[in-house]
Amino acid sequence: MSETTESPSLLPWLAAPFARALALERASALLVHGPAGVGQFELALALAAAWLCETPLAERAEAPPGLACGHCASCRLIASRTHPDLLVLVPEVLQQALGWTGDEAETAGEGGSAKSAKPSKEIKVEALRRVVAFSQQTPARGGLDRRTKVVVIHPAERMNGITANTLLKTLEEPPGGLRFVLSSAAPARLLPTVRSRCHALPLTVPPGDQAAAWLGGQGIDAPAVLLAAAGGQPLEALDRHAIGVSTAAWRALPGEIRAGRAGAAADWPLPVLIDALAKLCDDALRVAVGAAPRFFEAELLPPGGDLDRLNAWATALREAARRAEHPWHAGLATEALVLQARHALYGDSTSQGGPRRRLATLDP
Ligand SMILES: [Zn+2]
Repeated sequence: MSETTESPSLLPWLAAPFARALALERASALLVHGPAGVGQFELALALAAAWLCETPLAERAEAPPGLACGHCASCRLIASRTHPDLLVLVPEVLQQALGWTGDEAETAGEGGSAKSAKPSKEIKVEALRRVVAFSQQTPARGGLDRRTKVVVIHPAERMNGITANTLLKTLEEPPGGLRFVLSSAAPARLLPTVRSRCHALPLTVPPGDQAAAWLGGQGIDAPAVLLAAAGGQPLEALDRHAIGVSTAAWRALPGEIRAGRAGAAADWPLPVLIDALAKLCDDALRVAVGAAPRFFEAELLPPGGDLDRLNAWATALREAARRAEHPWHAGLATEALVLQARHALYGDSTSQGGPRRRLATLDP
């Protein structure tokens, strides 16, 4: 691992919520919530780093005020994921993508069992037991006031009921300088008792021009197209771009479907393809009732449309989304989805029995 001296930076649209959060000096638990792809986790980590940073506030960079310095001992420990006063809980399934892996000690402690074949999507109760132990230990460094410790839980809705209940007591009476940042794209799924103990910090989709400018700075062509494709969520646009959802591939999708093939989208993971088709369906429905599309450029969409067919397609796609993680044959599933889409959008039903019959091949 390289020596890390990350210069401090914050996604531009997070500066205002960051300042609001820093001003909440007495709130020991924050709940950052909003759409998934706008930077909840990044904000939670920026807050943790700022609270633990050991450079006096007056000596830190000025924009935005209070951001961690990026070079003190604490900032270096956070960059190397080894700060003893920071506990970051993310489900196994996200650990690699987010760069925060589980604690080795914890893995070893689970009866010596080998790594399970399927990484868990939940934040397990064992992880929350670590929070309880962490809350009782003396801060090793403790930031400027020598007493700060931080727990980040992301995404908080991945705690099941038992897990969340384990957290409640600590959340209610956090000892000393312990602070929590929970982040969630689905706060309604949190226990009300957890929600009510947190100070809510809502994030919204950033202004389109600001987000598009940032995406352009990441080397993305015609960033406004991918930003719209991601419902205005710039981090989601960037993640999708990394797995092949380019501007060109997105623009080509309606035409490819008309031609009865998936084109570049054949290489997208099935859940991503289904999400793209659901957006195409949503836009087609909008156009059919005279509204403006949200995700695709209007000139790429078929004019008009059959509401019955489109609504049936929407229902079928919701069902497909529920089953998208199943280990079915991706090639067959893609083919069936494309035929279904072509029928819904263009009324072409060249295969005998129509797309419903072809969809029988979707069963795993
Ligand atoms: Zn620092």
